[in-house]
Amino acid sequence: MKKTLYLLILLTACTPGDTVLVNQSGYYPGQEKVAVVDASFTGSFRITDVITGTSVFEAKSGDIIPSPFSSKVRTILDFTSFNQPGEYRIETENGSASHVFTIGENVLAPLALTALEAFYLQRSTPGHPDTLVLVHASAASEDRPEGTVISSPGGWYDAGDYNKYIVNASYTTGLILAGYEKYPGYSQNDRLLDEMMYNLEWSLTMQDPADGGVYHKLTTPEFEGFIRPEECKKPRYVVQKSVTATLDFAASMAQAARIYKNVEKYAGPAIRMEQAAEAAFLWALDNPDSLYNQFRMNENFSPAIQTGAYGDRSARDEFFWASCELYLTTGKDAYLKKAMEYAPGKFSAPTWGNVDGLGYFALLTHDKAPHAMKEQVIAFCDSIISLATEASFASSYGNSARDFFWGCLSESCSSNAISLLYGYRLNGNRDYLLQAYHNMDYLLGINPLGYCYVTGTGSKSPVNPHHRLAATDDIPGPLPGFLVGGPNPAKQDGCFYPSELPDESYVDVVESYASNEIAINWNATLLHLAIALQECSPSL
Ligand code: CA
Repeated sequence: MKKTLYLLILLTACTPGDTVLVNQSGYYPGQEKVAVVDASFTGSFRITDVITGTSVFEAKSGDIIPSPFSSKVRTILDFTSFNQPGEYRIETENGSASHVFTIGENVLAPLALTALEAFYLQRSTPGHPDTLVLVHASAASEDRPEGTVISSPGGWYDAGDYNKYIVNASYTTGLILAGYEKYPGYSQNDRLLDEMMYNLEWSLTMQDPADGGVYHKLTTPEFEGFIRPEECKKPRYVVQKSVTATLDFAASMAQAARIYKNVEKYAGPAIRMEQAAEAAFLWALDNPDSLYNQFRMNENFSPAIQTGAYGDRSARDEFFWASCELYLTTGKDAYLKKAMEYAPGKFSAPTWGNVDGLGYFALLTHDKAPHAMKEQVIAFCDSIISLATEASFASSYGNSARDFFWGCLSESCSSNAISLLYGYRLNGNRDYLLQAYHNMDYLLGINPLGYCYVTGTGSKSPVNPHHRLAATDDIPGPLPGFLVGGPNPAKQDGCFYPSELPDESYVDVVESYASNEIAINWNATLLHLAIALQECSPSL
């Protein structure tokens, strides 16, 4: 009887779930630790050790905060002062409970590892050997007329599709290697360098040796269906050389050359990469207006290309990033002069289409950023942390409808947090550091839907991402370690979403490419941020 009663109490009072939202990967002992009740709540809560069943901490509920988007309210539970490593659950006195979570010294190290291994899973070989790739009419040149067959093996699939895009691939290795340079203590160093090299070797094949220009992408004319790689039969092309692809290539190759020249087994490729970077930059100087406009290209050439465009209206930021990396690698003043010519005057967190931030990161890491640029980064960080005041989920991210768009969890939430940590190194403002952790809390469970938005991680995470590789293999569930796009009220995929609210416009179905796709650039922010927060944790 006693046993039954105890079980009943346990089941009713401690039902694990997402009514109390926690970071499902866990908290570092020194970070500002909050959980959020998805309702109005006044009373006490306690933390229970799930191994021993004992209550280890008790406190009163905190602020009750209205949602900026609806009549919903949320309640903050602060347990910052509790910092004993262990496995816990939070329970409120009225019977709400959280998923199990960890407090520990290395809570994000497994996330960094799985985010890195996701790139291995995303490799295009052996699925697409890409040894017989056609030169598209838009890319034809004297040495390589239309229909010339070239070999362009390796590299990661870009996202849920099977194509390979230089703009996004260069941004991805660029952001990850920026983290490598800034946080050299990271323990996965060797694996990380090998995995990035797998993609860089492919990128080298995308440069036309005759003139240094770089093909925008390697692609089928239309997306393949949801079929396995070995079932894909559409021809694959390299298309038009573009100024953005060529400059992103130049930047990432220059950066990689600088890093890999210190690694014995890669010293040879490093020399090739530096030469490739300089040749690409020269092509871009000669072709500054060769922006990629797929619509216009299809008016002039066939077959029409309908896959991801990665189009761009300005290459000023690509000129800036490439000039910064080339300057740091070669030491040539001509590149520094170019960097200052294209310096934007304002910092913005990096995305694939606006890579200014990567130029700032490179200069900051090498202590070459002018005073004005440092001030611009600090101004950005100050504006970000001010958004955390009275935030429903204690994060600077997620309090404005503008925060929710295609890819927002990476391109706003993660990218802002990464930028805060560059600012933190400049002036030591502890609020920058703390808010970077809160953004990760948001990604990993402290959000309106209670999702940990990384596949295979936490207690509640996406299981049906828009991902051809995962949807067509024989293994149930997603491939692990991928950050999904996240809430996106624009809903370009036409799927039914259960909610109209900006921060809940997400649906875990395979058709939802606008909220539930995966992408290498998004995983780049996840990996960089996980490494950064792990490396910064001793400063907490
Ligand atoms: Ca741009």
